[in-house]
Amino acid sequence: MSNSNDHDWESFCRLGEAIGDGLHHEDPWIAKEYKRLQKILLPKTDLEKNIEKKIRIKRNENINIQIIERLKKDKCICGSNLKQVRSGSKTVVCKNEECKKKYTYNSRKK
Ligand SMILES: [Zn+2]
Repeated sequence: MSNSNDHDWESFCRLGEAIGDGLHHEDPWIAKEYKRLQKILLPKTDLEKNIEKKIRIKRNENINIQIIERLKKDKCICGSNLKQVRSGSKTVVCKNEECKKKYTYNSRKK
């Protein structure tokens, strides 16, 4: 192991302790830096990446189904139809080029 790597590990451990103490709530960069070092020091295996990808795809599919259901009934206040901005997004945009109003569905249940 190189010296620069040792240094990274040291920072990584220190940041881990800070997060344990809840300091990352006060300093958001701590969590950010921790994640950056985690990627360098503990790269994810292909298996982990595959699982995460599958979860993400499944999540996107579920959102898409929900949005498609909603868009069957919902329309923009201008009367035009709405479309999803991108797959997996809960944000929809008016199809009317002159309107282009955006709406975001939240997942809270009524
Ligand atoms: Zn509109």
